[in-house]
Amino acid sequence: MIPLSVPQINGNEWKYLKQCLDTNWVSSAGPFVDKFESLIAEYIGAEFSVATNSGTSALHLALKVSGVKENDEVFVSTLSFIAPINAIRYVGAWPIFVDAEPKYWQMDPDRISDFINENCEVKSGRLYNKKTKRTISAILPVHILGHPCDMDAIMTIAKQYNLIVIEDASQSLGSTYKSIPLGTIGDIGCFSFNGNKTVTCGGGGMLVTNNGVWADSVRHISTQARDHPIEYTHDQIGYNYRLTNLQAAVGCAQIEQIDTFLQAKRSIANKYNSSFADVDGITTMPTSSSAWHSYWLYTILIDESVFGKTSRQILSQLQSLDIQTRPLWQPIHKSKAHQTESIHECPIADRLAYQALSLPSSSSLDNKSQAQVIEAVLSA
Ligand SMILES: *Cc1c(COP(=O)(O)O)cnc(C)c1O
Repeated sequence: MIPLSVPQINGNEWKYLKQCLDTNWVSSAGPFVDKFESLIAEYIGAEFSVATNSGTSALHLALKVSGVKENDEVFVSTLSFIAPINAIRYVGAWPIFVDAEPKYWQMDPDRISDFINENCEVKSGRLYNKKTKRTISAILPVHILGHPCDMDAIMTIAKQYNLIVIEDASQSLGSTYKSIPLGTIGDIGCFSFNGNKTVTCGGGGMLVTNNGVWADSVRHISTQARDHPIEYTHDQIGYNYRLTNLQAAVGCAQIEQIDTFLQAKRSIANKYNSSFADVDGITTMPTSSSAWHSYWLYTILIDESVFGKTSRQILSQLQSLDIQTRPLWQPIHKSKAHQTESIHECPIADRLAYQALSLPSSSSLDNKSQAQVIEAVLSA
């Protein structure tokens, strides 16, 4: 079987895990947690970093500490994995879904401006949705598949309307926008170290920010908001969201290898790009001139009217050859889980989701396997 995306365990994972077990530091504190936090902060150039047990919990706490309140609204990419939208609901806020732009498939800042012009007014310095009578307090761009959103445009809107920017860079560790690492452009960046991400802890997440007050607050509420070193006293409702030393040990070993992983993904992407460049009905993965693309998951678009088959038909054809591919996510404005008053049409995301097919992209994918994938797509 050729899997879609699996981790590559070739470094110090065993060694570091053994150190945890030998020293009895297995739980949600320990030297590897601290080390993993500083390695990530250093790698992307953020001042503060707090490890969490998932990317989803990092997003939840990012929204909470940055002051997104119950009944606020948050602009968020509709073409995204569902986690950031769920996190918005965890704090009682509501998503305003933003369509993708057709060129690079990311959140379209022009659609945010349109929405503001059509539906909003500014009242005592805050952006206000006239239809729902709610305050809009944040933008949550999701950098999908390893490519950045148009951050200049997003930051300009955020400054103009006093909105917090929380970047979901879960799929884009290592990518940059105009040479700036993703996750460090907005007010907070969130990462995931789930098994299929570029760097994995098995499961885990990280929140990065240059705001020390927020970072302290995240650390505090991710450990049940306990406010005394000896006594079990708590000053608010907290969560058990901390990463364990075992998970962090794997993460440390993985981040040591990130350059190798990114290089592998890059050459896999180059090979796919050149193999499909001249195929009618296939659009290869685009890269903006502002981007350093980490190609987390290499994805093509299939134009059914030219190619003669849908992305789903190719998916099942490849499945019968033991090649695992997958569609992108149902755009969340169409999800049964998230019906809100601010739903509007997002035709670009709908089309991209219909046409997209993600191909095997593990950093360990060898030339022979990739050639098989390419051959299978071409003969489809
Ligand atoms: C993977 C991912 C997350 C977080 O997932 P966890 O499994 O909770 O670590 C969040 N957002 C996006 C866009 C993701 O792809």
